[in-house]
Formats: sequence, structure tokens, C-alpha cells
Amino acid sequence: MIAVFFGPPGTGKGTQAARLAATTGRPHVSTGEMLRAEVSKGSALGAEAAPIMKSGKLVPDDLMVRVIQSRLEEPDASDGVILDGFPRTVPQASALDTMLESTGREIGVVLYLDVPEAALRERILLRGQTDGRADDTSEAFTERMRVYELETAPVVDYYKNRGTRVEWIDGVGTVDEVTERILTALGDHGHNGLEAVS
Ligand code: AMP
Repeated sequence: MIAVFFGPPGTGKGTQAARLAATTGRPHVSTGEMLRAEVSKGSALGAEAAPIMKSGKLVPDDLMVRVIQSRLEEPDASDGVILDGFPRTVPQASALDTMLESTGREIGVVLYLDVPEAALRERILLRGQTDGRADDTSEAFTERMRVYELETAPVVDYYKNRGTRVEWIDGVGTVDEVTERILTALGDHGHNGLEAVS
């Protein structure tokens, strides 16, 4: 099965998804990281995505669906993955469901990391100073939040309506505290294989 990390920019999805991937032995699939790798490589996809990412807007759905489809077809993804940054629109969520249904797979859990907007802006601007991400600027953050509210937030209702398990996680606190909450929500403390993502 598949776990999806969900939430506004700067909530710590990447950090927590990497930790859950290490705990479960499932690959961490971050579409943001995949796109940044394409930008560094200077590929055609990277060249198309770079200005969109820098502005805080979303890369077109058809492109992202193709990227995720080829990643999910890789052998290491056959037992499940930890998704981070995908799906980000209702059409992406619906395309993902179609893709998974065709291979008899499904989303086990959506982990919704929640952090108040003021704290997010602070985190993002701090990360901009340390990591040098092109979209961690005040302007791009404002656009990323606008796009999140408009296009990404409705994905939660899409999953709730489909009856997919959605766990709300308080994302305020230390990295360890948030990890602890995630493991508690998954209800599988002390075990290596988490039922929802096995
Ligand atoms: P992230 O690292 O998840 O914050 O993603 C960084 C940027 O990559 C986003 O602001 C988008 O421009 C782009 N991106 C990543 N994932 C997606 C996606 N699923 N759909 C559209 N754009 C995406």
C-alpha cells in the first residue's frame, strides 16, 4: 500500500516522509526532489519545470502524472511507497487512483501535517537561507500558499469522499515529536513494518 504525506509548503513533509521511509523500508518518492534533480541535470523536463517552480506555481498535471507513473513502475515501488508532494491537485489524485487500481494497489493512508501559516512562512524563509532553494523566498511562498489553498487543499476532501483513511497530524514541535505522532496515528509502535504502508 501507499502512504501520502499531505500539507502546505514547509510543514516538514520531506523530513517526515524520509523518516517513515527509513522505518518501513519503502522508497521515499518526492516529486519536488525529482524535479530539482532534473533541473540540476539540465534535462528538458528540468528546463520546463525550473521557472514554474521558482514562481511557486504548479508544474502541469499531465507532466507530473507521467513522472509519477514511470517512478511507480520501477521495481522498488512494487511493495508500496511513501509519497511526498504528490498528488497536489484533484486531477492528479484521480489519475493516481486510476493508475493504482490498474495494478491492484491502493492508498493506505493520507498523513495530513498541519502547521499554522505564520510558522510556515518563518520556516520557509529560514530554509531559504540555509538550503538555497530557489522557491524559498517570501514572494514564492505567498504564491505557493495561494496555490495550496486553491488547488491542493481540496485533495483532502477528495480522499475523505472516497473513504480513504486520512490522519490529521499536529506538525508543530520538534522533528522527533512529530515522528512520534505519526507513528502513534499509524498505530504501529515498535514494529518495523507499518500495516498501512506494507
Ligand atoms: P516541493 O519540494 O514538494 O515543495 O515541490 C517544489 C515545487 O515543485 C512545487 O512548488 C511545484 O512547483 C513543483 N511540484 C512538486 N510536486 C508537484 C506536483 N505534484 N504537481 C505540480 N507541481 C509540483
